Amino acid sequence: MHCRLRFSISSMTHTNEETTSSSGVGTFESIAINLLDSRNRYRGTIGKSQHTHSDIMEANPMTREFDTVIAGTGPAGLMTAEQCAGRGLDTLILEKRKDVTSSLMGELVTDKALRLLRVKPNSEYIGNKFTQIVGESLDTGANIVVDRTLLGNSYLLDEDRCQELMRDRALAHGAEFRYNARVKSVVQKDNQVIGVKYNHDEEARAGLTVGADGSFSRVSKTAGFTHPKWLLSYGYRFKLENCKNVDPDVAYFYVGEDVGLGYLWLYPRSETEVNLGIGRVPSSKDKWEELKPMRDVLKKYMKTHPETKNAKIASVNGGVVPCAGLIPRFTDAGVSLCGNAAGQVSSIVGGGVTTCFHAGILLAKHAKRMAEHDDYSEKSVRKYEKEYRGTKLANNIVNTGKGMWAVSKFSMHNDPISAAEIVLDELDARTLNELIQGTAGINTYLTLVSEFLPMVMNIGLGYLRAIAISGL
Ligand SMILES: Cc1cc2nc3c(=O)[nH]c(=O)nc-3n(C[C@H](O)[C@H](O)[C@H](O)COP(=O)(O)OP(=O)(O)OC[C@H]3O[C@@H](n4cnc5c(N)ncnc54)[C@H](O)[C@@H]3O)c2cc1C
Repeated sequence: MHCRLRFSISSMTHTNEETTSSSGVGTFESIAINLLDSRNRYRGTIGKSQHTHSDIMEANPMTREFDTVIAGTGPAGLMTAEQCAGRGLDTLILEKRKDVTSSLMGELVTDKALRLLRVKPNSEYIGNKFTQIVGESLDTGANIVVDRTLLGNSYLLDEDRCQELMRDRALAHGAEFRYNARVKSVVQKDNQVIGVKYNHDEEARAGLTVGADGSFSRVSKTAGFTHPKWLLSYGYRFKLENCKNVDPDVAYFYVGEDVGLGYLWLYPRSETEVNLGIGRVPSSKDKWEELKPMRDVLKKYMKTHPETKNAKIASVNGGVVPCAGLIPRFTDAGVSLCGNAAGQVSSIVGGGVTTCFHAGILLAKHAKRMAEHDDYSEKSVRKYEKEYRGTKLANNIVNTGKGMWAVSKFSMHNDPISAAEIVLDELDARTLNELIQGTAGINTYLTLVSEFLPMVMNIGLGYLRAIAISGL
């Protein structure tokens, strides 16, 4: 982008003397040509001009190589990358793994994710489409059926293809991917983040550093962001083959004693292939330790269901999702978090794909503004956070986050499974859907109070106790 060129010219004007005097080798011209030439040539010729990367960085610590450097290639990092590059920003993506694929990107999404990703429902990027979702108790068989008139369409993404698509779009716009690149910390100067250190002593400098490096983000930690109400949901997933007589149109969510505070899911990919997963939140150490390991719960499910009894486990993935809502602050001078790192996940169901896409698109729009004005000050980066917090999705995340925090506290002193059983037995699908999506209005709560007073009292007392403990 021309902005970077402008910056490079002015920074080289300043670095002429410093460079030659600090390193004592090379000439201004050799470095200037390298810096002002195309980005690839610049990187490729540092060695030839006998200047190391750190010579140049030392000469002018504010030298920027990129408009944006992004840590992580989950859905948040990939969407931010394709959108930043698509807007003409010089974009570098650092990923600690060796490729963008073969990871758990998240699978069940609605139409909104497809719109944000700009793919069609019947395209190769969609693994399956569901017409019905069933919530069921593994212990009693009580169930609730939510059809598409309530939920809208639900799709199973083909994760690898979606990841490749976003990567290829970013590459086509000139973004650079570096794999096996583990970000260690941000680099700061004058209270502003100016890039990252990765692997042993490598550095990448940029106007905006984006931490899309997941729930245990190094960017977040080293830039000093905090999350006092961090509540994590742990997930584990098998991809199964050789299943039998699976109805590919129906996805299942299960609760039960073995599952704990969370749910087990079965998302068919076809009549013979399913994704079987489990996600749970620890409410207290003791309760967590009482639970069967997640892998064993999945294996028990496989054994006790004829469809999966003889299935073969084709792959295993796991991950951790924040589920207590947005962190108090996720932007600062020169840096922004995106996705799990910022708590941008719809908390009750642990849905992060749509929210990551949405956040990445918005962040890229602001990254472009920052580059155009060459303004990465705290105030400028904060504009992204401000706009983000004003969106409906952010509002849902905050609402469901509070709900999840309360449920987790509730379950320290009560039995969440029996509460879930009551919900499955008595609540209608529409109300349940509203509660899960965080869109329930006053009428819903009034209906709940009048029609389900005993259950509300039961959950409500636990909720109040939770509030008392947590200071919510
Ligand atoms: C079992 C499970 C099932 C799920 N199912 C769904 C679902 O059905 N629907 C849905 O919407 N959501 C689902 N989610 C949630 C969704 O997957 C996440 O919210 C989403 O992946 C978050 O994306 P992200 O890009 O923020 O982080 P991540 O997907 O965690 O990606 C982070 C990336 O950063 C890289 N990285 C980490 N540290 C570093 C470092 N130091 N240096 C460089 N790179 C680094 C990682 O390798 C990774 O590629 C599920 C999650 C789990 C665990």
